[in-house]
Amino acid sequence: MTKIGLEIHCQLTKLESKLFCNCKADYRDIPPNSNICPTCMGLPGALPILNKKAVEKATIISLALGCQIPKQISFFRKNYFYPDLPKGFQITQYNAYGKTSIGSDGAVQIEGKEIKIRRIQLEEDPGRLVYEGSSEKTQITLVDYNRAGTPLVEIVTEPDFENPRQVRIFLNILADLVENLDVSDPYLEGAMRVDGNISVEKANRVEIKNVGSFRDIEKALHFEITRQQSLVERNIPVVAETRHWDEARKITFSSRSKEEEQDYRYLPEADIPIIRLVQSKIDALKDQMPESVVAKKERYVKKYGITPQVGDVLSSDKFYSDLFEKAHTDTNAKEVANIITTDLMGFADTREKKIELKITPRHISDLADAVLNNQITRNSGKLALQEMVKTGKSFSEIAASLDLGNVNDKSSLEKIIDEVFEEEKKAVLEARQNPDTVNYIVGKVMRKTKGKADPGTTLEIIQKKLHSK
Ligand SMILES: [Zn+2]
Repeated sequence: MTKIGLEIHCQLTKLESKLFCNCKADYRDIPPNSNICPTCMGLPGALPILNKKAVEKATIISLALGCQIPKQISFFRKNYFYPDLPKGFQITQYNAYGKTSIGSDGAVQIEGKEIKIRRIQLEEDPGRLVYEGSSEKTQITLVDYNRAGTPLVEIVTEPDFENPRQVRIFLNILADLVENLDVSDPYLEGAMRVDGNISVEKANRVEIKNVGSFRDIEKALHFEITRQQSLVERNIPVVAETRHWDEARKITFSSRSKEEEQDYRYLPEADIPIIRLVQSKIDALKDQMPESVVAKKERYVKKYGITPQVGDVLSSDKFYSDLFEKAHTDTNAKEVANIITTDLMGFADTREKKIELKITPRHISDLADAVLNNQITRNSGKLALQEMVKTGKSFSEIAASLDLGNVNDKSSLEKIIDEVFEEEKKAVLEARQNPDTVNYIVGKVMRKTKGKADPGTTLEIIQKKLHSK
């Protein structure tokens, strides 16, 4: 059986400062090596001071993933030499003398299967190496320490995944979860990075390091399964090693023999005292935690009669579920949810597009009311929404300027239908013989009314006319 385990590095992007100093946690879009200080550069004599907020955020993640929180946490030095690590060691957590990392023994359910969380640890990110040109051929490697010391949690799962699809589902749930908890923006470049370890039956375990996107980790795992299976079939041993994912060639390649834990010479970090976690403080954090994505979906379905599919889509996107919470009333919740998930999400499916939306909760609420009161059709509603997100104008302004009023009164609708019957004699004959073709006539009426006729009423009148003669 194929066994896959994950190590996910998730930056705590919502924090102000780095894990052990006052430099900014947000290292993006600033000149190289300008967000550094003696502490994160590891200069002699500089001492780390632990960011209290980082401990709180890591605790919240651990709680949300069903982990045990220890009575006290401590930090270790993981020693290795690499240019992106100015101190020569990374300050991280390690369960050497009892469990002292921020979380352990949690679980996440995916499609009825339990994925166990072995451990969650709080640690600092290293700097970034920047290659000029491709990493294999380059003569020059630059190093930018702006990221060094940025707080992140590493989430380690048991090898409970059986296939890459389960991995993707899990990662999506995790991304929704950290976004919903307001601890990280998982869509920022580099905010969530994944290592996967994988072994097919009769093969050694191989680790795939540092894959930057969820789509790529899925591809890398698929590639590795095929590679390992073909080696096993030919009786060639699969080497236990670390491999890297080559995005351009869509293959994994061997990078170095895998370090064992003892190679890192873990030592207790004596510059940071052992931190006691008081139960009352943990309880207070628990109370402040936002409603989980799962609970939110259940509420939408139960309280408002929203379909599970729409509830799923809406609850897992924090931006849109926040908009829903502010926009809906007791009477229009279902319609608001439909407008957001079927139309609005289509207009703005990326982070950049969401930010550009000139839309307020009031817009959506007014629009939903107009559809529910039969003032406009859903079709016209879509047009109005399109205009709203571009201009930010109110619904009433847009409805007037686009002439979106519903063709509600039956006599004028009947008149239009008569005209269509006159113009489309052949189609009318056909519809009398073959009722399936009636949609053609409905379509003609819709075109004539510019989508303002109610489809139900239109069909009703057409049917009556078809069978009365
Ligand atoms: Zn610093």
